[in-house]
Amino acid sequence: VKESLQGLSPYQPGKSIEEVKREYGLSDIIKLASNENPYGSSPAAKAAIAAELDRLAVYPDGYARALREKVANHLGVKETQLLFGNGSDEVVQIFCRAFLEPGTNTVMAAPTFPQYRHNAIIERAEVREVPLVDGRHDLEAMLAAIDENTRIVWVCNPNNPTGTYVNEAELRAFLDRVPPHVLVVVDEAYYEYVTAPDYPQTVPLLNEYEQLVVMRTFSKAYGLAALRVGYGVASEALIRAVEPAREPFNTSTIAQAAAVAALDDQAFIRACVERNRAELERYYRFCEEHGLKYYPSQTNFLFIDFESDGDEVFRYLLERGVIVRSGKALGLPTGVRVTVGAKEQNDRVLELIAQLLREKQ
Ligand code: PMP
Repeated sequence: VKESLQGLSPYQPGKSIEEVKREYGLSDIIKLASNENPYGSSPAAKAAIAAELDRLAVYPDGYARALREKVANHLGVKETQLLFGNGSDEVVQIFCRAFLEPGTNTVMAAPTFPQYRHNAIIERAEVREVPLVDGRHDLEAMLAAIDENTRIVWVCNPNNPTGTYVNEAELRAFLDRVPPHVLVVVDEAYYEYVTAPDYPQTVPLLNEYEQLVVMRTFSKAYGLAALRVGYGVASEALIRAVEPAREPFNTSTIAQAAAVAALDDQAFIRACVERNRAELERYYRFCEEHGLKYYPSQTNFLFIDFESDGDEVFRYLLERGVIVRSGKALGLPTGVRVTVGAKEQNDRVLELIAQLLREKQ
């Protein structure tokens, strides 16, 4: 294999419910490890899939025309400004494939979503990681890391695993100073969950900044993680340039149909986002009452910093049937990242954390 693949580990997802059932002999498992939508997906999306079942023998529309038209209308952009991927994971891969090669470098925060780094390594580009400050992107230091060989700067907004965000003024000031030969990919996987009024509206910014790419996904608030649909939005010229790096039939027929229906069901999204906000605030109150540090989050997850061994908390919850992500696996070893679940799930998490804190006293 290529040298760049040697020593590189495959992506390690959170533990699955089946694994934990087997390993711990438990039957009741709560998984809050992958920032999925705890309320499932829109019934309209399920119905749309059923309607496609007679078309499974036929290849999907490789250009995803119906979905393209729907998303273009939804965002107010041209259809030719969109690139669809098998999850936004694949959009990351396509941009890395198209822009990175030996001798180039790419700039990102640390920790952030790990696929930027992973794909950059495969393309044998240099990875420049800029530590977060107070859990937030250090845009000034990221600018300083850019040179003539930089091809892509990643801004995960809100950032995974901290849930923190870069605001509109900060993003604009950053875009004004990034040299024109550098792409700025703003990953908005959690966009629908954001409530901060100063969060940037990036789609209109595409008209001002040729180098901007915005990424979104149907895996989070839209509740379609299993179907793998994400997309990038950028200038027509940029999308045209990267399209050849895309696989021919990279989004399936059922995924396209479900995504169209899910986008039409905005009432479902609104309800999920509202419930998420209320539950997130319960976590905040709990942390404050128990003197736990956390990063204020604009997403459906929360990073709780126990200022001790995050793995210990992770294992304590795991042994009792609750799967979260250990900060150790995410580059923040003193805490855990918890997906905000439905009320009963969160009740259980909070009850267990309170119990652990009591035992440790
Ligand atoms: N970006 C971020 C910030 C994420 O957290 C995730 C999912 N964990 C993704 C991208 C990839 O999502 P998907 O491939 O399911 O669209």
